[in-house]
Amino acid sequence: MPELPEVQTTVNGLKRLIGLRITDIWSDYNSLFYKGKANINDPAHFRIFKKGVIGAKILGVERKAKNIFIHLSSGFSIFAHMKMTGHFMHGEYEKIGLGWRAKRGKKSAGIEETRKNVVSEEEIIKNGSGLHDPYNRFVRLVFSLSDGAHLVLSDMRRFAKVALVKTADINSLPEISVLGPEPLDSSFTLSKFKEVLSQKPNGKIKTVLMDQTVISGIGNIYSDEILWRAGVHPESLVRAIPPARLSPIFSATRTLLKKGIDFGGDSMSDYRNIDGEKGKFQEEHQAYRKAGKPCTKKGCHGTIIRKIVGGRSAHFCDTHQKL
Ligand SMILES: [Zn+2]
Repeated sequence: MPELPEVQTTVNGLKRLIGLRITDIWSDYNSLFYKGKANINDPAHFRIFKKGVIGAKILGVERKAKNIFIHLSSGFSIFAHMKMTGHFMHGEYEKIGLGWRAKRGKKSAGIEETRKNVVSEEEIIKNGSGLHDPYNRFVRLVFSLSDGAHLVLSDMRRFAKVALVKTADINSLPEISVLGPEPLDSSFTLSKFKEVLSQKPNGKIKTVLMDQTVISGIGNIYSDEILWRAGVHPESLVRAIPPARLSPIFSATRTLLKKGIDFGGDSMSDYRNIDGEKGKFQEEHQAYRKAGKPCTKKGCHGTIIRKIVGGRSAHFCDTHQKL
């Protein structure tokens, strides 16, 4: 699931759409599970969504924790959470049969590069990169834009959330009002970090780091990497961590989330940026999905192990990450 760096990478990309108008919408999201909910999966909400969105100009794009807000001139905002497998892409698309496909052309990022390396068109289709990457083909939502291109949402497992909200009401939404501080804000200091952690003294540190009401934006990948770097066992209870060890967790949090953004996000799974391209943070993993591998920390002879902590897979070194 995309975490702060992936969502920020998407938001940074979406900012290129500011000033464009949304001229039309298409979607095949439709699930009875969402009946009555503010989600375009419910046809009743999709009708309201269309009214607030079609004809509106994109005024701004903002991230709050793992949520995306696209602010519109209609006084409404598109509220999106990519959940398990969703990602937005911008390019030229065309309707083929029941679905949409990226058009071949200069706006289909990654294609020219692919052509240099492969011989046949079949190979491009099979192994394509950019907008033709197989993970980019699950197009469930298409916004036609005034520049003639499209903003689409590819979502293999169909869990993404997209809804229409009043821009003025965003901070009072149930999902937003409960969020903890943004870890990359300048106001997020070591003392603020200690203060928010102290709300969950009996929690396990990995679980607490991933709790969106404590800190915004950290998920399974970055929590594993933060704790590996800080040398703290994921099952350590917050109240039992000596104050001197909180500082390395705080620094690792800021450093790794920034690094995640610098590397264009993490594409270990299906995350892609808005040009349909992979990020590179997965090449930096020292713990996440490294079970069975020797620990790479200098002077450490441990092994990375995997264990369920708070219902999630934790990956950590059995030697230098201390309880
Ligand atoms: Zn180690």
